[in-house]
Amino acid sequence: MTTPAPLLSVRDLTVEFRRDRSWLRALHGVSFDVFEGETVGVVGESGSGKSVTVQSLMGLLPARSSRLAAGSAVFAGRDILRLPRRELRRIRGKDIAMVFQDPMSSLNPVFTVGYQIAEAIREHNPGLSRETLRERTLAVLSRVELPHPAQAFSTFPFQFSGGMRQRAMIAMAIANAPRLLIADEPTTALDVTIQAQVMQVLQQARGTGSAMLLITHDMGLVAEATDRVIVMYAGRVIETGTTAEVFAAPRHPYTRGLLASRPKLAAAGGRLTPIPGSPPNIASLPGGCAFHPRCALHERHRDPICVDTVPALLPREGAGLVACHLTHLLGSAQREMETT
Ligand code: SF4
Repeated sequence: MTTPAPLLSVRDLTVEFRRDRSWLRALHGVSFDVFEGETVGVVGESGSGKSVTVQSLMGLLPARSSRLAAGSAVFAGRDILRLPRRELRRIRGKDIAMVFQDPMSSLNPVFTVGYQIAEAIREHNPGLSRETLRERTLAVLSRVELPHPAQAFSTFPFQFSGGMRQRAMIAMAIANAPRLLIADEPTTALDVTIQAQVMQVLQQARGTGSAMLLITHDMGLVAEATDRVIVMYAGRVIETGTTAEVFAAPRHPYTRGLLASRPKLAAAGGRLTPIPGSPPNIASLPGGCAFHPRCALHERHRDPICVDTVPALLPREGAGLVACHLTHLLGSAQREMETT
């Protein structure tokens, strides 16, 4: 059986930011694929590079203070990192759409929700009549389960609650049936009780055909909503695999740390073990493996290779990849969590 071509193929994505007179590297050769219909989670603490990755894919990084040092991102056969701005705008909102953490970053407070969604549809379908536009907009509003779509059509974003606003933004994102939906921390700003509802709406409304890249720091959300997971640390991919395999047997100490610090474990009577220290600043990355100052495995074995050499991303046990010199020394996930 031949593997289908990925819908999005990111290779060696390397991005730098200007700081005074020098350039600081924020992404170090990030590579991953997203296939039609799947949900891929990108996880890591703040500063891991997950948001920079999607912002560079969408052409949203500030042009004056950032630059693409290397890499490609082929979406449906075209490198979107090198498209003229006009063409990228055409793809954005139609073939690739984004759901942000803050709905007000994509909803304009001075226009009604219905008007904005209709405009988003009209931009990519200029010939549609007013009636058809209204019908399509109402259909999209009911897909995100906004009660009374006709009423919601004439409502201003500020008149909605946080959860409703998030639904309106999802409606805007799916209005043109994108092939790839990028959701950047879509539920982080919401109450815990609303988070699950909004996530369910997002999953249902996008339909089965489109793929989703879900950016989050929430491992619980990754477990529930994704097929595959990409774990990032200090601007690099450090582990990838199917969500089931990575959660059952994480092969990188950082992934294990993220799993051990999930509040769910503590609630179930397990120990909540935060990862010691904090993520490094890109201006002063530790040498070798950037995780070594916080790594329990390095602490135990003190192998100089961790301090001297950046680990390559290599095939992990089962499917997927891992970047750790000492991954072979890790026991089962449970055992490691118990001794961390
Ligand atoms: Fe820890 Fe060394 Fe593996 Fe890095 S390479 S995660 S420091 S054991």
